[in-house]
Amino acid sequence: MTRRADEDELAAREAEALDRAAAARDADRDADRVVSPLADADDRVIETALRPKRLADFVGQQRVRDQLSLVLESAVRRGRPPDHVLLSGPPGLGKTTIAMIIAAELGTPMRITSGPAIERSGDLAAVLSTLTEGEVVFIDEIHRLARPAEEMLYLAMEDFRVDVVVGKGPGATAIPLDIAPFTLVGATTRSGLLPAPLRDRFGFTAHMDFYQPAELEIIIRRSAGLLGVTLRDDGAAELAGRSRGTPRIANRLLRRVRDYAEVKGNGVVDRAVARAALELYEVDEQGLDRLDRAVLDALIRRYGGGPVGLSTLAVLVGEEAETVEVVAEPFLVRRGLLARTPRGRVATPAAWEHLGLTPPEGSTGPGGLTGPGMPTLFD
Ligand code: ADP
Repeated sequence: MTRRADEDELAAREAEALDRAAAARDADRDADRVVSPLADADDRVIETALRPKRLADFVGQQRVRDQLSLVLESAVRRGRPPDHVLLSGPPGLGKTTIAMIIAAELGTPMRITSGPAIERSGDLAAVLSTLTEGEVVFIDEIHRLARPAEEMLYLAMEDFRVDVVVGKGPGATAIPLDIAPFTLVGATTRSGLLPAPLRDRFGFTAHMDFYQPAELEIIIRRSAGLLGVTLRDDGAAELAGRSRGTPRIANRLLRRVRDYAEVKGNGVVDRAVARAALELYEVDEQGLDRLDRAVLDALIRRYGGGPVGLSTLAVLVGEEAETVEVVAEPFLVRRGLLARTPRGRVATPAAWEHLGLTPPEGSTGPGGLTGPGMPTLFD
């Protein structure tokens, strides 16, 4: 097989594995919003082409990049696999990309799976027992790993050993099996749910943060180049401002706006085209979409700004509580539009203003919330 065909086949297999892992991961969530940070099937195909392949091409997350580059370089010098790496942070910020970069920088193959895809410890044993030395194993959404698999992983991470159970019931025996030294890269959107014994077994933990608009602009320009889209600087800036600090959303908005530019314009993406297209997709200047506005609207118009419990809020907007919590809330909180309090969710004065309303007397902003319903010293 030629090198080119080899690479193509590898890319196809990689996309397939990602697809399976992500489908299992996202089966119970909604990913059809244009500003959803979760990947849909289209995204997964395109993302393979847009992923930076080396650390030097990865934009932003400077501290993570610097630290990781040290970890990798010293491992290469010692000729040993690096410590296990835990990547935490919201979806769409580049955790899978970093995992692939780690394998590429080490020049090793990589196995891709996800917590929900490993239903039994046998599934994990099948992966671990067929590793070659130094391989990178990527487990996405690692906090959703089933308990028995998680326990198998402890031993594997620490001693490069698994206990394979043969037989069933009282006659079952555990046969210890040595496995090749490997590097586990775990990714999680909910590091708080990770059991301490698992967290402690990672030698290097990196937290990925939302991106600055200037960084997103670079990412969008790079993607436009790869997709053959003519993108003006003001168009890139407009898209970056509406991408919720998330490269996956930036890349998706770019594709939607490109479609619009091709059908309604001359194919060039500038500020005016970006604005018109995103208006059509109901993504506003701050990157809020219909669900975000529905959450704020329910809080403010139905409950005078809150506090409202998560499940009530979810019912009001017709979504699963987890979707509201994982998909809409982190961004609203980060933007200072919503606050989580012990008594429920509260709209901040900025949220009232965002909906074109006047905040009630006494509310002074996200840092000094004193609005009606806010817990006070005497609550
Ligand atoms: P996660 O695993 O955190 O959900 P991914 O690694 O799948 O996120 O990234 C989603 C998309 O965003 C990919 O297409 C990737 O190319 C792009 N992306 C993420 N981070 C960066 C970055 N720092 N530079 C360029 N593209 C990025």
